[in-house]
Amino acid sequence: MVGLERARERFFTADVVEPGGVRDLIWRSWTRARGFAVPVDRPDPVQVEVNWGVPLERVARPVLRHMAEQFQECAVVAALVDPDGIVLAHFGGDPVFTRQMAEEGPIVRGFDFSEVVVGTNGIGTALAVGRPVMISAGEHYSESGGAVSCAGAPLRDPVTGEVAGLVNFTCPAKDASPLLLAMATSTAAQIERELLTAAGPGDLEVLAGGGGPAALRTLVAAERRRRVLAERLGRVTMRAAQTTDVRLILARAMSVAEKVFPIDALWVLRWPAGAPARVIATYGDVEPRAVGTEVPADVAGLVLRAANGERVAGRAAGLPGRSRPAAAWLAVPAPAGLAAERSPAGGPMASAAPAAAGAPSPPAAPTTVIVVATDSPAGYGPGQRAIAGEFLAGIAGACGNACRFLEISRQATIDPLTGLPNRRHFLELASAAFRRCRADNLEMAVMMIDIDHFKRINDIHGHSVGDQVITKVATCIASTLHEGDIAGRMGGEEFAVVAEPAAGAMALAERLRTAVSGLATPTPAGALTATVSVGVASLADRDAALADLLDRSDRAMYQAKHTGRDRVVQA
Ligand code: GH3
Ligand code: MG
Ligand code: MG
Repeated sequence: MVGLERARERFFTADVVEPGGVRDLIWRSWTRARGFAVPVDRPDPVQVEVNWGVPLERVARPVLRHMAEQFQECAVVAALVDPDGIVLAHFGGDPVFTRQMAEEGPIVRGFDFSEVVVGTNGIGTALAVGRPVMISAGEHYSESGGAVSCAGAPLRDPVTGEVAGLVNFTCPAKDASPLLLAMATSTAAQIERELLTAAGPGDLEVLAGGGGPAALRTLVAAERRRRVLAERLGRVTMRAAQTTDVRLILARAMSVAEKVFPIDALWVLRWPAGAPARVIATYGDVEPRAVGTEVPADVAGLVLRAANGERVAGRAAGLPGRSRPAAAWLAVPAPAGLAAERSPAGGPMASAAPAAAGAPSPPAAPTTVIVVATDSPAGYGPGQRAIAGEFLAGIAGACGNACRFLEISRQATIDPLTGLPNRRHFLELASAAFRRCRADNLEMAVMMIDIDHFKRINDIHGHSVGDQVITKVATCIASTLHEGDIAGRMGGEEFAVVAEPAAGAMALAERLRTAVSGLATPTPAGALTATVSVGVASLADRDAALADLLDRSDRAMYQAKHTGRDRVVQA
């Protein structure tokens, strides 16, 4: 008692209050409690009638029970209260602690734990300030709270934003770890999420069967909530679709989606026409290196079947970047139609029983599928599945369109045989480099590279060996260059390079020439080698435009041809 009085004294007199901080919060709560004339030594919580069957309670019960079970050893009591601080339900705590709670300030059903009645405490204070609060022993307004710590977190109606209730965790320790507050906050978030989708088709059936004005009110509220939610998600989808950056689409969409259904991991998978699936983007707990990797054929087949609405194996293990199987997963395809893509029809799918993994061939038309997985043992409820299916289909559609845009732009800029920028794109990149080097007075070199006697290679070994040689030379050029240097395929067996070589343009050209001459392409007639002739021109004052540099390097390359090939000539 003396200790608490001293603490209270310090609170009201000393300069310990940091505006906005926890102390400030408690100080304000104590001030309010004093204003309410709450007795400091023996608060007397008021017991009231509790209305059974509150939807909040129905939703929160399983979540709170689960949480209390997790912390059985610490005798934590989890309580659910209504917006007025009336305890609706409580779970957990060992018999000793529960008895103590019952004697000293009962967190039991029907008691009013608002700030007005019992002064500063986790429940009342969090309700008064509308955000999560932790109160340790000495910070309670009354002596009865002197042996416990508690953390309260308000529950907001996800649609209206109003405080719909609160969760509170109390533990028999003077100072609890910040984990207690984290627990309360994350539990509140989970309940809010469940609240949003609780009224799924199953609930509605039950309610419809029950009849009565209360059931009707709940039905209307559920319907309104779903409509508002659908509109909100629709807006999110529209906003997300305004970019061609898949990562940005996900960032915009998932911060909202996570409030509606649990997402521990997410993959955007893309099947280009007739080709194997690749991971385009991920979200959540997936290793970043998964992006860009090919999905194993059996897993891809499984995902396609799930996206088609088939009931398949219950583990999303095997998708790149995550070794742990998820408790539940959904595979949602982009809708067919708008995107001019044919994608698998049918809804999303939560899976239960393992089935034989199929590995059908990739779809003929480009296809985009989003896979979401959760580690929560509760998985996805029917309401969540319905909403997630609709929402993720929209997001998958946006991702599919973004991919198509990138694929088409890529086709317009990248040479399909070598993967190097094509002539047009190379000239764009090279012009930008020219302007930059001119403006900043930097060195710059342009090289023309042409494979020697390439017609002979085609004539002797055939076009396909010729193609292999072109590809090998292209890869060799690209890998010999430094980051920031640009290589392009100008046409046929001719390449160009823009570099800002530190060790000089001639040295780099010589390195390229030597590297190419060391390549060997296997043919039935034995390993085939090829050589290149290289013309080099370094940026000079007289070069007014990129074309001047290109011209000079081209002339130097022809000089290399005329003086014996397999050599470098400087302009
Ligand atoms: P030089 O040493 O003078 O450059 O002789 P060359 O035979 O390489 O010269 P030319 O430019 O006359 O021949 C280039 C040949 O490359 C002609 C064309 O049939 C062939 N070619 C162009 N594009 C491709 C391609 O994509 N694949 C294959 N296999 N051959 C190609
Ligand atoms: Mg040639
Ligand atoms: Mg040529």
